[in-house]
Amino acid sequence: MNIEPAQPTAKNPPEQFAGDVWVDPIVAPHDGDQRATMARVRFAPGARTAWHSHARGQYLHVTAGVARFGTRDGEILELHPGQTLYTPPGQEHWHASAQGTFMEHLALLELGDDPATTTIWAEHITDAEYEGGAR
Ligand code: MN
Repeated sequence: MNIEPAQPTAKNPPEQFAGDVWVDPIVAPHDGDQRATMARVRFAPGARTAWHSHARGQYLHVTAGVARFGTRDGEILELHPGQTLYTPPGQEHWHASAQGTFMEHLALLELGDDPATTTIWAEHITDAEYEGGAR
């Protein structure tokens, strides 16, 4: 066993993230058939991802602030610390902090058979999609 090396915090790219979003990688595969990855992701108030989907789905565990998650059918879920969102394989969605608050979540996903397909990115979300009606 070993203590995993700490990775530096990195800012996520503007092509896929609107507003300031920072990522701390925590877990990455060591060997051939390992697939699990996990990261801590911090969103500035109102920051958001573009539309995207994951080949093997994703778990998002909120650790601070207020999170908003949306899907193409217009559903928006608002989550608080201690709650975990699941998105199934291939479902397009976005992640965001609520206006006026930072948000932090742990993001767990498994690499796709071709790691380039782990996350498929699309266009940025609109303000109307972000604002929607949380339930
Ligand atoms: Mn996602």
